[in-house]
Amino acid sequence: MYDVLIIGGGVSGLTLAYELKKLSKSVCLIEGERLGGKIATAELEGKIVEEGPEEVVNSKSFMQLLSELGLLEEMVRPKKSRFAVLRNGKLYTVPEGIAGGILRLNSDLFRSAFSGLFSLSTLMRMLLEPLYNVSVEDDMSVKDLFTAVYGKQFVEDFFRPLAGGIYGGDIGLMSSSVYFPYILDIKKKGESVVRSFMKKKIGFDLVSFKLGLGSLIPRLQEKIKGVDVMIGEMAREVRYEKDFISVRAGAEELRGSAAALMVSPYTAPSFKNIDDVVKKARLYVKNSRIAVINAAYDKKFEGYEKYSGILTYPEVYGVSGATFFDSKWPINPSSEPYVLKYFIPFENYMEEDRALKIALKFGKEHFGLDDPVSYRIKIWNDALPIYTVGVHSLREELEAFKGKGIFFGGAFMNSTGIYSSVITAKSLANQIDGYLETKTHAGSEPSGSL
Ligand SMILES: Cc1cc2nc3c(=O)[nH]c(=O)nc-3n(C[C@H](O)[C@H](O)[C@H](O)COP(=O)(O)OP(=O)(O)OC[C@H]3O[C@@H](n4cnc5c(N)ncnc54)[C@H](O)[C@@H]3O)c2cc1C
Repeated sequence: MYDVLIIGGGVSGLTLAYELKKLSKSVCLIEGERLGGKIATAELEGKIVEEGPEEVVNSKSFMQLLSELGLLEEMVRPKKSRFAVLRNGKLYTVPEGIAGGILRLNSDLFRSAFSGLFSLSTLMRMLLEPLYNVSVEDDMSVKDLFTAVYGKQFVEDFFRPLAGGIYGGDIGLMSSSVYFPYILDIKKKGESVVRSFMKKKIGFDLVSFKLGLGSLIPRLQEKIKGVDVMIGEMAREVRYEKDFISVRAGAEELRGSAAALMVSPYTAPSFKNIDDVVKKARLYVKNSRIAVINAAYDKKFEGYEKYSGILTYPEVYGVSGATFFDSKWPINPSSEPYVLKYFIPFENYMEEDRALKIALKFGKEHFGLDDPVSYRIKIWNDALPIYTVGVHSLREELEAFKGKGIFFGGAFMNSTGIYSSVITAKSLANQIDGYLETKTHAGSEPSGSL
């Protein structure tokens, strides 16, 4: 019998195992495929490429983890260059701070506003935003929030390809309380978004490592030496018994005082004897699917030196974005071959051949590129979780499971990137520790006499 059974060995599950080991808990980590999950650094023509994430939003907690893993010296930052949006065959530079990841409006928005990206009425709306109050709800779709604040043109011609490129999700479904809580709060208080961000210039520190994000995984593995790790069997069922939680994986039935699910609702085990939480999670946590193609070319292409990448409208171009991976990161020498990483979102089944055709057509039409020298394709059928409006009701329900010793992290809730996965894992470890303490004391009878 273990203290904790962890299901899922992506960065969330591995960080949780490490944090629990520090708290001297006995842990078994169950991973169905390979440790690292979506972190997938590979090699193409001698260059480092990322088939999954390529950057992490840095923070104090993340730096602390890196220092413990001995990875601080390995850290690298992207070269300063911006994204561009491809609209009607023309490239428009995206304001700095917005392309960084999650939208942050700052004064730079106005400076780059005159690139032609925004219409005159959108510009007026942005300028007058501090003067007007808009009414917002506790939770509304990201599309509705930004339409209320900046209007339709801002959303359709700029925000949709931006958010689509980052999250691969439908902005009409995505919950603003998950993705843009700060903007929702500012508007709820009747304040100005632009003024708030001008007062407090917030920047993003994006980082990777000299050998790519994959460096995180062996370092975490080293740190969890001594923890039992079971690789190759998916956990199929979680059963809540009176004194313990049982998890079935392959022929094994493992027992723990607590269990943590660090997986997506789409691959999560079923729950026996417990309310159907997986079904509910699938209602509020939609799944995005993305094909990633890294292609190596023998000549430089337009924008290679100038931009980090291009964001597009997937419904028009098939591709939602392309990153100039090796010109962006000082990991690879900026010499032949030149690597371009394409993102192709899809709804149903996608074959590798079809994904390749879409990418090559895009490369040909927009960069005049011939076929690549070589390429790698990765199909993510369960890519990023998309938290929809109403997800707070799921969160409340999941909170109640903590009292039963079942904890959720990773894509089940709160995982919008590696940064949030790491933060959630750290706080879960403390909550699990608290639960185990209470359980121990509740079960013990006082001995001796007074
Ligand atoms: C193409 C792409 C680009 C991205 N870009 C970025 C980026 O630039 N920056 C960023 O911060 N984030 C990015 N992300 C998101 C980031 O990759 C994830 O947020 C993060 O890696 C999630 O880690 P996790 O441990 O929660 O989940 P995962 O990495 O999905 O790990 C879950 C693990 O659980 C295992 N598993 C699942 N079900 C079971 C089961 N029933 N039993 C046993 N094991 C199971 C899986 O095999 C997997 O190893 C990107 C994602 C994709 C797909």
